[in-house]
Amino acid sequence: MTDQPTSSLTAETVSAILRDPDSPLYPAQITVFCDHCGFEATRDYMVSDSMASAERLAAARTHLVENEGWQHDEYGDDFCPEHASA
Ligand SMILES: [Zn+2]
Repeated sequence: MTDQPTSSLTAETVSAILRDPDSPLYPAQITVFCDHCGFEATRDYMVSDSMASAERLAAARTHLVENEGWQHDEYGDDFCPEHASA
C-alpha cells in the first residue's frame, strides 16, 4: 500500500477504492491555474488525509503535465497547453 495518488480515474477505480475500508484515499477536486491566462483545470484526484495541500497540487500538476500538455516550470509557474513552451 502506498500513499501515491492515482491521477487518472475511472468510475470503477473510484468505486473500488471507496468500497475498500482500508484505503486512505478519497476523491477530491483540485484546480490548477495557468499563470499566463488564468485558465483553470479542475479534475478529481485521489488524495489521502496524509497528503499536504502542496502534495495534492503536485499530484494534479503531474497529471496535467503528463496527460494534458501542461507545463510546470522551474519558477513554480503553471501554463495551460496553449501557453506551454515547446
Ligand atoms: Zn494559458
